[in-house]
Amino acid sequence: MEKKIILTGDRPTGKLHIGHYVGSLRQRVELQNTGEFEKVFIMIADAQALTDHFDNPQMVRDNIEQVALDYLAIGLDPAKSTFLIQSQIPELTELTFYYMNLVTVSRLQRNPTVKAEIKQRGFETNIPVGFFTYPISQAADITAFQATTVPVGEDQEPMLEQTREIVRKFNEIYAPALTEPNILLPTNKACLRLPGTDGKAKMSKSIGNCIYLSDSADEIRQKVMSMYTDPEHLQVSDPGHIEGNTVFTYLDAFSLPEHFERYLPDYANLDELKDHYKRGGLGDVKVKRFLNEVMQETLEPIRTRRQQYENDPAAIFEMLKKGSELARESAAQTLDRVKEAMKINYFG
Ligand code: ATP
Ligand code: MG
Repeated sequence: MEKKIILTGDRPTGKLHIGHYVGSLRQRVELQNTGEFEKVFIMIADAQALTDHFDNPQMVRDNIEQVALDYLAIGLDPAKSTFLIQSQIPELTELTFYYMNLVTVSRLQRNPTVKAEIKQRGFETNIPVGFFTYPISQAADITAFQATTVPVGEDQEPMLEQTREIVRKFNEIYAPALTEPNILLPTNKACLRLPGTDGKAKMSKSIGNCIYLSDSADEIRQKVMSMYTDPEHLQVSDPGHIEGNTVFTYLDAFSLPEHFERYLPDYANLDELKDHYKRGGLGDVKVKRFLNEVMQETLEPIRTRRQQYENDPAAIFEMLKKGSELARESAAQTLDRVKEAMKINYFG
């Protein structure tokens, strides 16, 4: 059977939020615990974060620890998964340099996620070259570990496609040294790209419309109660819209049948609640209170576990150092194969 290897990760640009949780983190823990994967690599992408935060290195540094704490809090386990810091694996930079030959400027310009991010960051007239080329560096991250499986949110689809193109081109021109990865998207549609609490765009650290995994019970309640809903649902008796209604999108992503039993027994399930809302006669406050219960129950154990690890930053960095060393061995093997394929292995 083919070896199955996971590579995925996050940029240390802030603490992790519930969009990350449903888009990728929740699935990572499940996959890690299936035992089906020979290796699971979880990367903190600090070098990529520096492509658009090069002027704020302290922020990136501080968030390495925060992201690692979030990993432990959700149940990623260093005994089963290898945590690594991207910048500590110089092989990734070398691979990026060689892959650059296989990608055109116009191909990079077509990437819809990068396009949206350029706009969001105000880079339209002044795109840093490093930021523009980050999809190539991401291809290096994925292929360095010969990943077969990349569990990520929908915004990463163009990056996976770019990676697959690079792999095919490399293997065709040189020799079959690289593995073509598959994206693994969440099966629940609401989780593909969770919107922010403002109802706009996706929840994103860079926009500030997030519920963080580490938020206190009060913060969660405040954010839920002031969330965007249906702007046309003014009176309780008015018929309401579900589509584009953030509160219902979050319920799609998080609520379980047992939540109804515990907190809203008048309704058997989410469909019944939606039907009532659409008919009219169900107020936003009642739905938000229910969502608050669901979020509190989901996030409380994560927050508690996070607090257990917060007091020992030295242990966190020791774990990241060990993981990075282990990961480097895998990346070095791939780089050797790449150099051999490219005939730049002069000294044996
Ligand atoms: P930044 O704004 O710095 O890019 P981000 O919030 O987009 O931060 P990333 O570190 O870029 O987070 O993404 C980490 C992972 O989380 C990726 O797999 C991405 O697809 C997923 N992800 C991020 N935001 C969401 C979201 N709102 N819904 C679903 N998945 C998401
Ligand atoms: Mg992002």
